Amino acid sequence: MNRQTNLLIIGAGPFGLAMAAYAQSLNIECLILGKPMDFWKSNMPEGLLLRSACDWHLDPLDVHTIENYLQSQSLTPAQVEPLSRDFYLNYTKWFQEQKQIEVLPSLVQRLDHSSDTDNLFTATLDDGESITASNVLLALGFRYFKNIPAEIAKIVPSGRFSHTCDLVDFERLRGKRCLIIGGRQSAYEWAALLCENGATAIHVSHRHETPAFERSDWSWVNPMVDAMVENPGWFRNLPPKEKEEVSKRFWAEGRLKLEPWLWSRIDNDTVKIWPKSKVVGCDALPTGELEVSLNTGKTLIVDHIILATGYRVSMEKVPLLADGSILAKLKTNNGYPVLDEHFQCSIPGLFITSMPATQDFGPFFAFTVSVVASTKIIGSFIKNSVSACSS
Ligand SMILES: Cc1cc2nc3c(=O)[nH]c(=O)nc-3n(C[C@H](O)[C@H](O)[C@H](O)COP(=O)(O)OP(=O)(O)OC[C@H]3O[C@@H](n4cnc5c(N)ncnc54)[C@H](O)[C@@H]3O)c2cc1C
Repeated sequence: MNRQTNLLIIGAGPFGLAMAAYAQSLNIECLILGKPMDFWKSNMPEGLLLRSACDWHLDPLDVHTIENYLQSQSLTPAQVEPLSRDFYLNYTKWFQEQKQIEVLPSLVQRLDHSSDTDNLFTATLDDGESITASNVLLALGFRYFKNIPAEIAKIVPSGRFSHTCDLVDFERLRGKRCLIIGGRQSAYEWAALLCENGATAIHVSHRHETPAFERSDWSWVNPMVDAMVENPGWFRNLPPKEKEEVSKRFWAEGRLKLEPWLWSRIDNDTVKIWPKSKVVGCDALPTGELEVSLNTGKTLIVDHIILATGYRVSMEKVPLLADGSILAKLKTNNGYPVLDEHFQCSIPGLFITSMPATQDFGPFFAFTVSVVASTKIIGSFIKNSVSACSS
């Protein structure tokens, strides 16, 4: 079967769902594909607490906000913050219901583009169906961009380490000793969750000092991102020094601070922190244990290693692009797509948002604070181009 649509949204996470809602409100005919909120369900663990609060909602029309969701249940932000992953999933489910967004829960296997015939895209789905679209939005989040440092993959025997993205079931590490490599929020949150789920020893090794357990201040980010709706080129047009300052300030809030509610959960004899250390060796012993050497001279005996080493954008890693005809035509810079001020890449009609947009739009675009701005910018541009074509 071959369907046709004006806008095909690939990805049903926060960015994709918000785009579908806005497209409906603008009468842009669209289809949305993907497993609703699958990254949050499958790659973020149960028990995870969000760093963001109730003000980072999904609705470009400001109606189905988290605060209104709370009001419908006679709750206040203070009663639910810090928000849990499950709370956020319930909010997005409510949002989807209120907006009547029907997601086709299929995955795109490949995306092709033909410039000969009216600049159309064809998405081939895992069930064999195909969809033809004039415009496509990729809202694929982080999942394809796991960062596994080559020097660690070289040292640690294969099968003995997992990236945090793939380690959300802590039951299998009950009674085990773990080493977490990395020292930002995820490293410490995984340490807390492993501890609460019965791991017997958790070592955390990172090259830097231990970040401060201090509340992050994101209040300055919202007005900055909201203003981008009127001035989408703001970040890219900043003088390099100012651009660096903005990125550094965001980085400092997110990476030099750990949420204060983590401290009491890791302040115990099970969790041991090794700041200013680096893994330099790892041997599998005949007993099956791993003997890990740190550059400080310390040796640790553990059963499993967890990489809390974050994500790094590389468009080559997105299978649906690599398998289709897009990648060869996609202009990239440092692995990121080169985007215009409407999130459009070098192939007209193909829009890319979320984490891959951070190089051109700023580091905030890896977080849900940017969902509304991204949606409004892309939606208005597509609406205008549809109107121009039909007039
Ligand atoms: C540990 C952790 C904690 C975080 N905490 C916060 C926080 O507190 N606050 C915050 O704002 N952000 C947080 N983030 C970031 C947040 O996860 C992202 O900003 C957000 O998920 C990006 O949304 P998205 O819509 O781009 O994609 P995602 O939520 O990643 O969803 C991707 C969608 O794409 C679909 N998809 C994938 N491949 C295909 C395919 N081939 N075909 C069709 N569909 C496909 C999936 O099924 C899914 O629906 C956190 C991230 C991590 C890793």
